[in-house]
Amino acid sequence: MYPLHEPTFSGREQELVRDCLESTFVSSVGAYVDEMERELERLTGAARAVVVVNGTAAIEVSLRVVGVGPGDLVITPSLTFVATANAIRHAGAVPAFLDVEAESLGLDPQQLRDFLGSACQKDADGRWIHQASGRRVAAVVAVHIFGNPAHVDTLAAICDEAGIPLVEDAAESLASRIGDVHTGLFGRCGAVSFNGNKIVTTGGGGALLTMDDALGERVKHLTTTAKRPHRWEYWHTEWAYNYRMPNLNAALGVAQMRDLPGLLERKARVHQAWLEAFEGSGATLLEARPGTTANHWLAALVLPASTTLEQRNALLDAACDERILCRPIWVPLHQLPAFADAPRGSLEVTASMHRRVVNLPSTAHLVDSSAGSSASSVS
Ligand SMILES: *Cc1c(COP(=O)(O)O)cnc(C)c1O
Repeated sequence: MYPLHEPTFSGREQELVRDCLESTFVSSVGAYVDEMERELERLTGAARAVVVVNGTAAIEVSLRVVGVGPGDLVITPSLTFVATANAIRHAGAVPAFLDVEAESLGLDPQQLRDFLGSACQKDADGRWIHQASGRRVAAVVAVHIFGNPAHVDTLAAICDEAGIPLVEDAAESLASRIGDVHTGLFGRCGAVSFNGNKIVTTGGGGALLTMDDALGERVKHLTTTAKRPHRWEYWHTEWAYNYRMPNLNAALGVAQMRDLPGLLERKARVHQAWLEAFEGSGATLLEARPGTTANHWLAALVLPASTTLEQRNALLDAACDERILCRPIWVPLHQLPAFADAPRGSLEVTASMHRRVVNLPSTAHLVDSSAGSSASSVS
């Protein structure tokens, strides 16, 4: 059986988790939480990393600290995991779905320009109002799909000029970069996930990354009940969250972070094996666009443009019969009942990619199974 993505524990996971248990600091305070944040800052170059209970919470808090509130509109792609849109709803806002570009499957900068230019208007206070709904456009959430960097450099420039904050859903893109800059650091803040299926796992968990120290401090404060430091008094400065990552999860995360270089190297070999397996097949593999580095989290096969949904489904069934657990890309979120009323742009590329993109098993230790024969072990 080849599952889509299993965690790889080849470092000091057992040792550090046992150490955490023996310390009795398994919950809301402990040294591993701080250590995990410092490891993330070292890897990403973020001025501040704050670890939280999961990636969805990291996106929700990101939206709150950039000023998103009840009734606002937040622009995001329809072709993403449902958590992106759920987090927008948790923040009290509603999503507006715009199309992706075919190169990275990230939000298309031209679609953002067109939407602001034709569907929205700037009011006297400089706020962008979506004409059809009357809602304020309060933020843009870009997503780095399967670890491939979206055009967030361009998106950040558009958002800067418009005065709209950019938040990055970097849940899938830990260690992915544009040039030398880590994904998640182009907007005001970025959210990472450490769910069990992501490249680094803490069991469940997430983090917020930012280059803004003050914003990072505010996020730490908000995700830890906004308690004013005091020897004994319970004074909370505003309504807030208990979103902190337990120390037990952080212990697992620290071990995973220290093992990351080896993990990334194996992920690249799995990707290479799939590339070779599909050479000349008519299907292509999604690749990091020029000037960017992908973490190779999930290999994504892009089937020819003429592929129908029936053909895609037949392929998925055939692979499952061989116990190769391929998965289709997500159902575009505007098709889900919860988001059926959401404003949207043209979603042509989204519809095409929904029919054509299939994820392939991408577990890092797939390449360890038989001495060097990585391609044959997965193809
Ligand atoms: C995994 C994921 C999330 C949510 O992360 P959780 O830790 O599962 O809450 C958000 N967005 C995308 C694109 C993801 O893949």
